[in-house]
Amino acid sequence: MIELAEIHRDFLVGDQIVHALDDVDLTIESGEYVSIMGPSGSGKSTLIRCINRLEEHQRGQIIVNGTELTNDIKNIEKVRTEVGMVFQHFNLFPHLSIIDNLTLGPIWVRKTPKKEAEEMAMMYLEKVHIAEQAKKFPGQLSGGQQQRVAIARSLCMKPKVMLFDEPTSALDVSVQAQILNLLRQLQHELGLSYLFITHNIGVVSYVSHDLAVMYLGRIVEQGSVDAVMHDPRHPYTQALLSAVPVPDPDSGREVIRLEGDMPSPSAPPQGCHFHPRCPQAMDVCRQRYPDESLLPDGRRIRCHLVTGGS
Ligand code: ADP
Ligand code: MG
Repeated sequence: MIELAEIHRDFLVGDQIVHALDDVDLTIESGEYVSIMGPSGSGKSTLIRCINRLEEHQRGQIIVNGTELTNDIKNIEKVRTEVGMVFQHFNLFPHLSIIDNLTLGPIWVRKTPKKEAEEMAMMYLEKVHIAEQAKKFPGQLSGGQQQRVAIARSLCMKPKVMLFDEPTSALDVSVQAQILNLLRQLQHELGLSYLFITHNIGVVSYVSHDLAVMYLGRIVEQGSVDAVMHDPRHPYTQALLSAVPVPDPDSGREVIRLEGDMPSPSAPPQGCHFHPRCPQAMDVCRQRYPDESLLPDGRRIRCHLVTGGS
């Protein structure tokens, strides 16, 4: 459904070049639920903004449902209708009623007649269990309710893929679980593909098929959630997962504390970007960016430890 190959995206900030995405490959199959984790500033939002054409990539290839994304306006319109996006802060129009927030896209982009658009909007508001609020305005709704509206608004465009940028991190914990359940249900019912950025490892293990871990503009490890969670192989993934409490205190898992912070993406270290903080760094890690290795369980990883530095 989505194929990214060697995506690069730089930003010029003052006189410095920020490498927000530095050679990213990612595939999402039809009906698949892929999560992305990684520290703040590692390029997660930029990645999904490139897929949704809110940003342009400078190099590499993005293919959505068979169409390569270029900056041609027709191409952008196609993507806007096939790819839905839900943000952390809902992004509803405050001066429009709930139903008008939903019908805006279908009426203006899809040229759907108003009555038909309203019927469809009500159907999706029912699917997210909020139809009784249709005449209200966003400011009259709770955060969780507004996020339901934002989800319904995306669905009105009949997308095949949904991109989520930390959609529950502005919500109460109790509400988060409801929204996540709703999303999983909708995914099954509508056969959608999901790309989901989150900081919450519980969310990942509960709902997604695949996990991609980003660090300083690169995906360092990706594979099935089972494989990555039970046997993380990249030292950054190991540190990330070691911070999660495990139910079994005798599991022998130790918390790995990383020294320092992620370096600035405007001055990434040579070689593996993680080497200055890596407890297992070798000489080769300081010199050369590791090629991608494919493990027998289908996992893709960029780490010299996996190949023994060869
Ligand atoms: P994440 O979502 O993982 O926190 P982002 O994709 O937002 O990371 O950002 C990755 C890097 O790119 C950061 O260093 C950020 O400051 C930079 N960046 C993102 N968007 C812009 C922009 N529009 N202009 C300049 N720098 C940007
Ligand atoms: Mg972000």
